[in-house]
Amino acid sequence: MRLSEIYAKRQFCFSFEVYPPKTEAAAVAMRKHVDLLVRYQPGFISCTYGAGGTTQDQTLDICSDILAQHKVPVMAHLTCVGSSRPMLLDWLGQARLRGITNIMALRGDPPKGLESFQAVEGGLSYANELVSLIKKHEPGFGIGVGGYPEVHQEAPNADVDLANLKRKVDAGADAIISQLFYDNTDFYRFQDKCLQTGIRIYNIPGILPITNFAQIKRISGLCKAAIPKALAESLEKHQADPEATANIGIEHAIRQCEDLRKSGVPSIHFYVLNQSDATMRVLEQMGIRADHSR
Ligand SMILES: Cc1cc2nc3c(=O)[nH]c(=O)nc-3n(C[C@H](O)[C@H](O)[C@H](O)COP(=O)(O)OP(=O)(O)OC[C@H]3O[C@@H](n4cnc5c(N)ncnc54)[C@H](O)[C@@H]3O)c2cc1C
Repeated sequence: MRLSEIYAKRQFCFSFEVYPPKTEAAAVAMRKHVDLLVRYQPGFISCTYGAGGTTQDQTLDICSDILAQHKVPVMAHLTCVGSSRPMLLDWLGQARLRGITNIMALRGDPPKGLESFQAVEGGLSYANELVSLIKKHEPGFGIGVGGYPEVHQEAPNADVDLANLKRKVDAGADAIISQLFYDNTDFYRFQDKCLQTGIRIYNIPGILPITNFAQIKRISGLCKAAIPKALAESLEKHQADPEATANIGIEHAIRQCEDLRKSGVPSIHFYVLNQSDATMRVLEQMGIRADHSR
């Protein structure tokens, strides 16, 4: 099922994002967490594409496994890093043959050691070009693109970033999935600006419940997501106590999600980091229950 059909089918949807694990033990653990998460009947599960263009095959394998085992729609992430057009088309063809119906079309970050993104020879420079490539050669896919409530780190300002987002939408994206954020006012401002710019496709907030302060400082530093002062102070105060840290982070995520749902968002995309406990607690608190017959 394609993204637009998934979102249109339900009044309120949610989805999960996993990443390719690095070891066999981590792969076993991830599968266990996915087994638990699918009981909540997500609209889809997505799998990231390794930074620097690594783990491409794993992205396809994980998506195929989830599809085969759980019959849940999937979305495979794809970036322009390190791939020429023929390589991207080959990968997309493999995804189609495996029954994958949705692609998260991304430019990707510059590979380690490089300050700015450079397309490889015969490759693409921006995600809007990848969306166009997919629409032209593989029109059967639903397409997601990244959006940045706090503005992408390379964009000089919000207006330029939105003009770029509009290019991705005009090229044929079906849904925007946002970078993680911890202050809903950032998302609501982004949502309003999207509408003012004429962007009217599904705009989905991305939520990462905090369970580990050191890890979240690293991740939010990389993607430039601000942690509100009161939340950061509270996490800092309890950082020696993992249980208290997780409680603070999860309660914050619950408040965010309840407020987002009340505001009328069509879905929430959870960055589950190959875990399940935190996301399940958020869903349960929102009144979303697992189907234990699955
Ligand atoms: C939901 C989500 C999932 C992600 N998953 C992955 C993943 O699986 N693997 C991974 O490696 N990374 C992933 N990322 C990170 C992403 O690759 C980085 O944020 C990357 O820096 C930008 O990718 P993009 O697709 O948004 O790029 P683009 O939309 O191409 O934008 C990149 C920058 O260029 C600017 N720009 C865009 N088009 C133009 C243009 N035509 N002219 C001038 N400037 C332009 C934009 O304003 C922005 O500053 C994800 C991000 C999100 C939000």
